[in-house]
Amino acid sequence: MEAPALVAKWLKESSKTVVFTGAGISTESGIPDFRSPGGLWSKYDPEDFTFQKFLSSEISRKNYWKMSTEAFSVIARAKPNEAHLAVAELERMGLVHWVITQNIDGLHQLAGTSRERIIELHGTCRTVSCLQCRKQWAREEIHEMVLGGVEVPKCDECGGLLKPDTISFGQAMPERETAEAFRISSECHLFIVMGSSLVVQPAASLPVVAKQAGARLVIINRDPTHLDSMADLVIRGSCGHTMRAVLREVREDREARE
Ligand code: NAD
Repeated sequence: MEAPALVAKWLKESSKTVVFTGAGISTESGIPDFRSPGGLWSKYDPEDFTFQKFLSSEISRKNYWKMSTEAFSVIARAKPNEAHLAVAELERMGLVHWVITQNIDGLHQLAGTSRERIIELHGTCRTVSCLQCRKQWAREEIHEMVLGGVEVPKCDECGGLLKPDTISFGQAMPERETAEAFRISSECHLFIVMGSSLVVQPAASLPVVAKQAGARLVIINRDPTHLDSMADLVIRGSCGHTMRAVLREVREDREARE
């Protein structure tokens, strides 16, 4: 059986399916990932953007907002691609039950994935909060301020530091979301990775948790990952192309049974 048909068959057999996505699902929407050539980390040093540096140095905050504003200018224009749309469609068909994403771009929701079914492990860049009083803004509002020349935006209520609601290196993972992601992974029957190098922890342990609890593991990624040998199926290809083929198989199977 061809790989997309096998994924379609396993989707049908599973009543608890998790889709786990990383930056690779959004590259076809024009958002660069971190680790591929030309990715963000070939331009910036991640060591310069730790949470501790953000808290302790005005220069680091200026650099952070410069990098983050550059990234958000791209994200704000991006549209969901075929892979995001296929995941949302599979959810509507009752075949995907959870989406756990490391992405901060909000494209799953724009594609139609329901808010109750998505866990954003690393937060979202679509809102900004005051680190002191927790007042929250839509990102666009603060984005305009920064584009207008404010290098380090501050809270208009308490003067505290503003930061996008993403998890930086050195910043604690969101407790509830992380616990929920581990619980769901340990209970699912099918766990599908899409576009992740599987090197960022603790997110990268989730496929291992799922596999050890008895789930089937599928990895769809352009480059090899260190968990490929553990997977039941590895598809070395693009998320968009692969998910288009999977969705076609699912539809054909449904039509044949009608
Ligand atoms: P990563 O950059 O470490 O790895 C991305 C992987 O996706 C690579 O292995 C690459 O081979 C693969 N890939 C790239 N394009 C692909 C495509 N079209 N189809 C299939 N595979 C493709 O990303 P990661 O594992 O998500 O971890 C890095 C961190 O980067 C995450 O914590 C995430 O928060 C953050 N990040 C998010 C975004 C976003 O929200 N879009 C963008 C950059 C980084």
